[in-house]
Amino acid sequence: MLLTKSDLHSALKKYFGFNQFKGLQEDVVESILSKNHTFVIMPTGGGKSLCYQLPALMQEGTAIVVSPLIALMKNQVDAIRGISNEEGVAHVLNSSLNKTEVRRVKEDIVNGVTKLLYVAPESLTKEENVEFLRSVKISFMAIDEAHCISEWGHDFRPEYRNLRHIIGRIGDGIPIIGLTATATPKVQEDIIKNLGINNAKTFKASFNRPNLYYEVRPKTKNVDADIIRFVKQNEGKSGIVYCLSRKRVEELAQVLQVNGIKAVPYHAGLDAKSRSSYQDKFLMEDVDVVVATIAFGMGIDKPDVRFVIHHDIPKSIESYYQETGRAGRDGGEGHCLAYYAYKDIEKLEKFMSGKPVAEQEIGHALLQEVVAFAETSISRRKFILHYFGEEFDNETGEGGDMDDNVRHPKKKHEAKEDAII
Ligand code: ADP
Ligand code: MG
Repeated sequence: MLLTKSDLHSALKKYFGFNQFKGLQEDVVESILSKNHTFVIMPTGGGKSLCYQLPALMQEGTAIVVSPLIALMKNQVDAIRGISNEEGVAHVLNSSLNKTEVRRVKEDIVNGVTKLLYVAPESLTKEENVEFLRSVKISFMAIDEAHCISEWGHDFRPEYRNLRHIIGRIGDGIPIIGLTATATPKVQEDIIKNLGINNAKTFKASFNRPNLYYEVRPKTKNVDADIIRFVKQNEGKSGIVYCLSRKRVEELAQVLQVNGIKAVPYHAGLDAKSRSSYQDKFLMEDVDVVVATIAFGMGIDKPDVRFVIHHDIPKSIESYYQETGRAGRDGGEGHCLAYYAYKDIEKLEKFMSGKPVAEQEIGHALLQEVVAFAETSISRRKFILHYFGEEFDNETGEGGDMDDNVRHPKKKHEAKEDAII
């Protein structure tokens, strides 16, 4: 297929209504259309979906997209259907479909109508699905959230380990596209090794978020009052406060409410109805603050979150980056405030003590980086980007003065013994 740049732009306009590619998208699309194994590392919100959706729509055959969460798949399928007149252009194949629905999906694929087929890894391992997919034309396989393959990632899923084997069974020369927002070199190595794509063309975007301001404060017993003050200073703005435990989420949400702040709790222990109602309230701006465990956030696309507070320090730099990354998606202001006490690190260490030794070792290594980050006196941004394998110069780089250590150089924060929580 010989395509010019202007063909790609017209396709972009035709299918998505966008006038311009974002970042590396155009190069990625070209690589996929040229049948290369392709590896895409872009921060959340960077526009990874389009990287595989556009070439899928432009080619013959069906692209299989592996994605870990049913909710995310549904969103994407709805979005794709929304831009096409043909409902069958995108489908989800999972265990919730009845026989008639499965037949419809298969018919659409056989008839060449379906360009994108979203599957969860556990559906892909089903023998009948493998048999079926072997018999039809597949354009490529995209593995979204590919860090799920790695134990060093923040969301390891053992089913992802089987993918390479299954792809091999579906068809030998199928181009494989891995996509992730995880930038650590270890996770990237794991992905390439596990997917067997040594020769992949790799595209890595910068992970710098110049509009985010990073700040770490020592955590004392006044942390709740400090958070209340911060939220009140940012009245009317949307924000997320992350806590480690469900209990703390409930308590803090209440404390904020009592202090006249429109806040709701969010954690996996709430029933589905409350969860979706609280989430909607946040999106609709009926409430300003969600106090949440890490169960909140994945796939939530609220562009104007103005602050993300970590009441408890996260278990890795990776998680910190993902969670703070939900602030300022629109490019506007985003204040990232984390509270840190060494006691919390010990708590996190203790949580791991029941786990297999290998997991504990990984968890410990990740935590040590968090300690280094919290206690550092160098630029937070420089630290984060270095962790992701990127050199950053505060003098010349965008957002070079957007953290506490650069704005207010001081002796490093010592985690005080008496900082109790
Ligand atoms: P990621 O998967 O990397 O987190 P998404 O694929 O969900 O990011 O895209 C994030 C947002 O960027 C979406 O709202 C999407 O519509 C938008 N987007 C993607 N590509 C473009 C583009 N070329 N022009 C404008 N907006 C884009
Ligand atoms: Mg994505």
